[in-house]
Amino acid sequence: MPISRRSLLGAAGASAALAPVTAQAQAKAQTKAKAAAPASSDKVGFAVVGLGKLSLGQIIPGLKVARNARLAAVVSGHPDKARRVAAENGLPADAVYGYDDYDRIAKDPRIQVVYIVLPNSMHADHTIRAFKAGKHVLCEKPMATTIADAEAMIAAAKASDRQLMIAYRCHYEPQNLGVMRRLRAGTLGKPRLVNTTMGRQADPADPSDAWRLDGPMSGGGALADMGVYGVNAARYLLNEEPVAVRAWGHTDPADPRFRTTPDLIDWQFRFPSGALANGSTSFNYAPTMAFEVICEKGRLIADPGAFYGGNRLTVVQGGQAQPPTSPPENDQFAREMDWMADVVRGKAPMVSTGEEGLQDMRLMKAILDSLAQDGATVKTDWGYRRAVDPAVVVDVA
Ligand code: NDP
Repeated sequence: MPISRRSLLGAAGASAALAPVTAQAQAKAQTKAKAAAPASSDKVGFAVVGLGKLSLGQIIPGLKVARNARLAAVVSGHPDKARRVAAENGLPADAVYGYDDYDRIAKDPRIQVVYIVLPNSMHADHTIRAFKAGKHVLCEKPMATTIADAEAMIAAAKASDRQLMIAYRCHYEPQNLGVMRRLRAGTLGKPRLVNTTMGRQADPADPSDAWRLDGPMSGGGALADMGVYGVNAARYLLNEEPVAVRAWGHTDPADPRFRTTPDLIDWQFRFPSGALANGSTSFNYAPTMAFEVICEKGRLIADPGAFYGGNRLTVVQGGQAQPPTSPPENDQFAREMDWMADVVRGKAPMVSTGEEGLQDMRLMKAILDSLAQDGATVKTDWGYRRAVDPAVVVDVA
């Protein structure tokens, strides 16, 4: 899954960046990249912290197919599981750590990047400890459960002169990148309205959902877990930052799932260009990770728009819906980790910065503040601007 760096290549102009990539060209590029893949020992070593659903189902498999990243260690509270996962992945016994002896990674040169895949309330502490150990950090979304923790993570990265990346996989996913580029090219006219729906049914009997339904551990239930994709998408689709938000919602007081987190939230962002974005999230509606962008002359419907695979895009132009398309099969997690590996090696610019994660944290707080005031408008123009547009630097192929 080759990723080129337009900004570093310099000469790739906007028209080249926006040209559709044919399947043939992609296959050719992939073959070329496979041939050029570095030997395993040259790959950047990742320690995966927390062996839950995402680590076992996506991240460790992603590291197997990554071009520049490899699994170097695992960190877990369950030694038996950790030893099994290590053995299955060809790691030696001394590449297994627990949370108590985690700080020993400082002395382990096999590890360059620590990937934090823990419940949200544990991100800050383990990120800061990794920086103290001299490692770079890739941290799952949402980056933390409080703005203060997010700021402390950014400060720790600066103090240790290490890289902090937030795992916004959609910044590296071909369909999302294609939509961003189409919008930047303006062929459908100006984007006027974005709609995002991100949610599902949560199951309190599933330990992986139990902490998501817990206010302090998740930092906001469905909004922190799924809604954050819509908050982030509205911003990367429109390539601007909201200046105001208002939100309201509904939480059934009789539903035992929602004792400490809100359920259904619907919000609106106002952007400086005049565009608006509607977002919704819930842990009590049918699964959806979809978005739609309505422009002056057409619509882009991405449904699904943010799944791990099988995303599908329908373009409606001149009143005609074109046949839906799907991006070539790709491993978003491998693409994201390859990008981090290249950032660490100085071969790619950082895209999904800690500040990007902090911006989402602040916007989610503004949504919750508005919700608490029954839809009052909350100003959000505190001056944040994204440093690097994924549409410009991350290649589709
Ligand atoms: P899980 O609950 O499945 O796994 C979390 C793991 O963290 C556990 O298996 C456990 O691993 C470890 N852990 C340590 N302490 C605790 C604790 N007190 N309670 C629960 N787990 C603990 O969660 P996910 O893997 O689904 O999510 C992990 C992170 O990844 C979250 O931040 C989530 O938002 C993010 N995520 C991102 C996705 C994406 O598409 N980018 C998709 C899904 C999740 P061990 O037994 O090894 O100690």
